[in-house]
Amino acid sequence: MLAPMRTLRFWVTIGILFAANILISNLLFSAGQAPTVTISYNTFLSQLNEGNVTSITSTGESITGTTKKAVTDSSGSPSSTKFQTQRPAFATDDIEAIALKNNVTMNAKDPNASTPLWETLLFSFGPTIALVAVFLYLSRRAAGSGAGGILGSFGQSRARLYNPEQPSATFEDVAGIDEVKAELQEVVDFLRQPQKYQRLGGSVPKGVLLIGAPGTGKTLLARAVAGEAKVPFFSISASEFVEAIVGVGASRVRDLFAKAKAAAPAIIFIDELDAIGRNRSAGIRLGGNDEQEQTLNQILTEMDGFDTREGVIVLAATNRADVLDPALLRAGRFDRRITVQPPDRRGRAAILRIHTRNVPLAPDVDLDDIAGQTPGLVGADLRNIVNEAALGAARKGETQVTMADFGEAIERTLLGTERKLLLTDKDRERIAYHESGHALLGLLVPGADPVKKVTIIPRGQALGVTLQSPIDDRFNYGEDYLRARLVGALGGRAAERVVYGIVTTGAESDLLQVTRIAREMVVRWGMSPKVGPLNFSDDEGGMFAQRPYSDATAQLIDDEVRRIAEECQADAERLLSEHRAQLDALAHALLKDDSLDEAEILQVTGIKAQNDSQGVAPRAAATSVVRPSGAGIRS
Ligand code: ADP
Ligand code: MG
Ligand code: ZN
Repeated sequence: MLAPMRTLRFWVTIGILFAANILISNLLFSAGQAPTVTISYNTFLSQLNEGNVTSITSTGESITGTTKKAVTDSSGSPSSTKFQTQRPAFATDDIEAIALKNNVTMNAKDPNASTPLWETLLFSFGPTIALVAVFLYLSRRAAGSGAGGILGSFGQSRARLYNPEQPSATFEDVAGIDEVKAELQEVVDFLRQPQKYQRLGGSVPKGVLLIGAPGTGKTLLARAVAGEAKVPFFSISASEFVEAIVGVGASRVRDLFAKAKAAAPAIIFIDELDAIGRNRSAGIRLGGNDEQEQTLNQILTEMDGFDTREGVIVLAATNRADVLDPALLRAGRFDRRITVQPPDRRGRAAILRIHTRNVPLAPDVDLDDIAGQTPGLVGADLRNIVNEAALGAARKGETQVTMADFGEAIERTLLGTERKLLLTDKDRERIAYHESGHALLGLLVPGADPVKKVTIIPRGQALGVTLQSPIDDRFNYGEDYLRARLVGALGGRAAERVVYGIVTTGAESDLLQVTRIAREMVVRWGMSPKVGPLNFSDDEGGMFAQRPYSDATAQLIDDEVRRIAEECQADAERLLSEHRAQLDALAHALLKDDSLDEAEILQVTGIKAQNDSQGVAPRAAATSVVRPSGAGIRS
């Protein structure tokens, strides 16, 4: 199926071809003919008598001819040495005599002769044939060389697969995920010396699937493997196939594997595999999946059809392994799966060191400290922070990037860029109370993430922001922590109710977070005694997917989700009413200063910092790593 942009391009192309068609037919019809002027019969006779006419040809009563000097009609139309005129049936002149006297060449055509067949065919089908030829030529060119062309959309990404790259990235450029590097080292060794492995009969995985959140460095890793092994890298993004015209995806895959085998040892990298590799049995999909299915089948066929001894290894990346078609994960396909986790604090520091290699840092910059301030962020975020900090320093005309530049960059990355908005005093006050509600509950509820900053300067989509970030990376979450999150998220709305007695639209995204977390608590983490210790999370549900539970359970889930949310709302309102003085103090301080940092918040409210001994689950104890949706940021 064609995406909107592509559809537009398609129609523009058709339009251009249509115009070309008209142009071509005009050219064909008038080819080699100088313009002919139509003159009256009187003018013709006088020109003939003056001796200006050199030749005439008659077809029935119609006469065409040429003149020495250009003639024109009395109406002042353009003049020409070619003319045509019509002899009236009642004319009694003797053209033959005058013509003979003036030495005019005379010719005649049979008025009943039909135009030759080839001419008819050429004029009627010629333009169409020309159009089809041009169309074929252009699409061939676009598909073949990837030179673009107006039909580039039909074959764009093909170009890339004809040109393998030789990435310069190595494992030196990847940090914080040493376990993954160790696993991939085997692939590198194999690609470096395939003969050695063949001799020993060792089996190396055909396909390695990298699974991890966006920005954790999967693409980078794949390139680094090719860079380390110094082999060609054939990369393709599966999402490109989704828009392709039916049949193109499968043939591209065939080409891709053929080229890679020819260049072996080589790496094929399929990025965003979930775009085509979605579970085919999940729900009913409405149209447009033929292409995906064909492409997927072709990948499966190709993977079955080669032997690792040929020296080709397929790497793929996805951030949703749970939705992949089981066929992809079967033995002999992507049977090696490697999870790429977000980096821990040490890893973040190492990633920061990589990205600051070429950045002049001021002596006050402490990368370990920055790593401590950025739990939950991935490699791509950290690279972005370094970039923002360097840009900020350049803007200020500094020669080195300072810790202050990093502070601003972190804030911009976490909270979004500041926005100028004209707000009434009434609105500002309401926003101040809303944010104070979030912040105060973050301080009051045991187990909540510490409040790092609260601001009523509009940023990104938000009118105000409260930033809470965990003391350290968490890998497992207790029910009390999740409830603290819910109470905090409902704090903005609760403050509005406590202070003004009404609610506003400002809590929209808060409620979204609440709904997600509360629902996950019930259907995913077994935190509702009534629903029980069951996991009903169906990530790849879709509209028509079969629910794995009865209608009665569906009702129960809804009721339990609502109960949890309502309990948390009651808690939020109760706590804020009890601490009304602190709420007022915080809101007024915010109205005065716009933003407050952690120390200022504690000082204004007179609350002592939570002691740091709260239950951060040690990493080893975590059985599975789950993150409740949404970062610790609420607006
Ligand atoms: P993904 O493919 O997982 O979404 P990318 O590989 O595209 O992530 O990461 C984007 C960029 O972020 C990389 O090009 C790199 O600059 C940076 N990055 C991500 N993870 C790391 C890492 N572990 N070490 C160093 N840089 C990283
Ligand atoms: Mg990627
Ligand atoms: Zn809010």
